[in-house]
Amino acid sequence: MLTRRHLLTTTVGLAALAAAGPALAQDRLKVLATFSILGDFVKSIGGDRVDGSTLVGPNSDAHVYAPAPADAKKVADAKVVITNGLGFEGWMSRLVRASGSKAPIIVATQGITVRKAAGGHAHGHNDSDPHAWQSAANAKVYAANIRDALIAADPAGKDAYQANAAAYLSKLDALDAEVKAAVAAIPADRRRVISTHDAFGYFQQAYGIEFIAPQGVSTEAEASARDVARIIAQIKRQKIPAVFIENISDPRLMQRIAQETGARIGGKLYSDALTDEKGDAPTYIDLMRHNVRQIATALTI
Ligand code: ZN
Repeated sequence: MLTRRHLLTTTVGLAALAAAGPALAQDRLKVLATFSILGDFVKSIGGDRVDGSTLVGPNSDAHVYAPAPADAKKVADAKVVITNGLGFEGWMSRLVRASGSKAPIIVATQGITVRKAAGGHAHGHNDSDPHAWQSAANAKVYAANIRDALIAADPAGKDAYQANAAAYLSKLDALDAEVKAAVAAIPADRRRVISTHDAFGYFQQAYGIEFIAPQGVSTEAEASARDVARIIAQIKRQKIPAVFIENISDPRLMQRIAQETGARIGGKLYSDALTDEKGDAPTYIDLMRHNVRQIATALTI
C-alpha cells in the first residue's frame, strides 16, 4: 500500500515529467516557411530550437497555390514567417493580411542578384525569376538571411543558430563544388536540356547548363502553341538529346515534345519543391544532387 508521502512524491514526479515535454515544445520558436525548400533551410539552421512548418508541401506547386483557411491560422501562430519573395508566392500578402499576423515576414532572397526572365515567353515582359535557390551559392544567402532572422526572433539561441548555419554553409560550399565537378564531366557541346518551365535560370548562370523551357518563370500561364513549336524546332536543329519532366508539373507536354522530336525523357527534375521523406529529394542538398546527376547521366550517354 502506498503511503501518502509516497503518493505525493510520485505525483510531483509525474507532473514534473509531464511539464518537461510540453514546456519544451512551447519554448521552441514557431517558424513558418512558405514552401518545402525554405522549410528545409529553416530545419537545418533552426535545429531543435525551432518548431518549423510549411504552407506548400512536397511535390506541390507554390506558383499556383490556393491557401486554405487553416493556413491563415498557421500564419497567425508563427513568430517568424520565411518567404522566397520575387513574386513567387503571389498569394502570400493577402494571406498575411487575413491572418492578422504581426510576425516579421522575412524575404530570404534579400541580397541576391536577381535574374530577369528572358522575354519571348507567353507574356513577354521581363519578370523577376524567383527560383534563386537553384544555385548553391544563392542558397548560402538564403541560409544567412534565415540565420539572422532566427537570431533576431530568439536571441538566446544565437550561438546555436550560428553554429548550425556555419555547418550548413560549409555543406553548401561542398555541394556547389560537387555540382561544378559533375557539369565539368559533361562534354561542353552537350550541355543543353529542355525543362517544362523556366525554373533553372540560376542553375544555368551558376553551372553552365543551358535550359530551354516552353513555359515561363511561373507555371500560371500555360505554354502557347507557338512556344511549343519553337522548342520542337530548336530540339531538332540543335539535336538536344534530353527533355526533363518536373515533379510539380504535368508530364504530358514533355512526353509530347519527346515523341515529336525523338529526344529522350532524361528523367525527373525537382524544380520548385522537395519530395517527401521516401522520395529522391527530401532535402535541398538531395534535390541539387539528384538534378545534376540526372542531367549528367542523360547528357553523357
Ligand atoms: Zn517555378
